[in-house]
Amino acid sequence: QGADPAPQDSRPRLTVLSGPSGVGKSTVVAHLRKAHPEVWLSVSATTRAPRPGEQHGVHYFFVSDEEMDKLIANGELLEWAEFAGNRYGTPRRAVAERLENGEPVLLEIDLQGARLVRESMPEAQLVFLAPPSWEELVRRLTGRGTEAPEVVERRLEAARVELAAEAEFDTTLVNTSVGDVSRELLALMNVD
Ligand code: 5GP
Repeated sequence: QGADPAPQDSRPRLTVLSGPSGVGKSTVVAHLRKAHPEVWLSVSATTRAPRPGEQHGVHYFFVSDEEMDKLIANGELLEWAEFAGNRYGTPRRAVAERLENGEPVLLEIDLQGARLVRESMPEAQLVFLAPPSWEELVRRLTGRGTEAPEVVERRLEAARVELAAEAEFDTTLVNTSVGDVSRELLALMNVD
């Protein structure tokens, strides 16, 4: 149904970095992009309120519920998911344009979103970022200090479920050091 055969060239694939909330995905991505700004990171739309320091159009596009409804209804999102009471989605067009230009594209999204990308883009490479241990993950989720206790509890519950999903991914990277993981991720993306 219109899907191209597997690309014969070394066209960069879409790379999806996922894993439990609090595992350090955004820290890894920030580290990676400092060294390699040519790696294009998709900016998601979300209905979550901005955290201190977060900027519209940089960290997220912060949208209302009505705006999110419209993005979904108009098919403008490559995938979207509800996470801990808010909706998050990847704008479709920007990703397609970058891939057509041959630019390496990175998505940092939750597990449900990663599954949806797998369905619609089987050629995407799915990378699971695992915490060094469960205790470390709890420490990170509790220690952020910007979230209400019931929000932290919901995120822990989600993390328990998400840890079990590792088997569905192409590759697992254990987040022992931000530098190591971002180097490993760059290698997976064929960026040097
Ligand atoms: P946070 O609220 O901490 O920024 O993000 C919560 C979760 O939503 C994280 O696991 C993050 O990776 C995920 N997320 C961010 N953007 C998207 C998106 O566009 N789609 C999906 N499915 N998840 C996203």
